[in-house]
Amino acid sequence: MKQLAENVYSITGKGFFSVPVFVLEKQNGMLILIDTGLEKDSNIIIKKIRKKWGDLEKIERIVFTHRHYDHTAGLAPLIREMTTISAPESPQERVEIVCHEDEAPHFANALRGQVINPNRTVKHNEVIDKELKLIAIHVPGHSWGHICLLLEKEKLLFLGDTIMYMPFGLREVFEKYHDDFEQYQETLKTILDYEWDFAIPSHMTAKKIPRKKIEKFIEKVNKKKSKE
Ligand SMILES: [Zn+2]
Repeated sequence: MKQLAENVYSITGKGFFSVPVFVLEKQNGMLILIDTGLEKDSNIIIKKIRKKWGDLEKIERIVFTHRHYDHTAGLAPLIREMTTISAPESPQERVEIVCHEDEAPHFANALRGQVINPNRTVKHNEVIDKELKLIAIHVPGHSWGHICLLLEKEKLLFLGDTIMYMPFGLREVFEKYHDDFEQYQETLKTILDYEWDFAIPSHMTAKKIPRKKIEKFIEKVNKKKSKE
């Protein structure tokens, strides 16, 4: 587990394609997760949440950057673990599962045939959590309803799959994995309209990238676009 800010942590599974789960801790000890990672990593993620916070019951909200399986497949095993004798009602009744309204129709996550879908959809600029000031920024293209998540007070931006961190530098997720690559190139700069100091990509490692580096990267993407 890595601590990224006073109340922000990341838990990463094993392997090249693992996507970290970000855990945001509220004042009352309740938790918000951003993405749930791969199914194969769910044991590690559940174990680490239990070790630090004691109880999965503390999870009050799960926010998805987008629907791709490497970000969402861990949802089913997590919900299964949260269904306990002491809390027999379906966790979906008490946990808010959030994604952008354009992503919801494409979202599919199944647990032994039982489909788990988001029970709250959000729009561009919607405040997802008032206390933490967690805000959805719609950046369509990688997927129709992809959102980056701004943690306003900490000035941290969760990039999801809009920008990938590679040891040799930042880059786009490979073109074949986008719903609409041109739209992605056009909308990426939206994130610069907001105030943040560091951005955290989903792939490779949960690393805080300074704003300047992201600005340079977006400039490069825009130049590439204007050449075509
Ligand atoms: Zn993706």
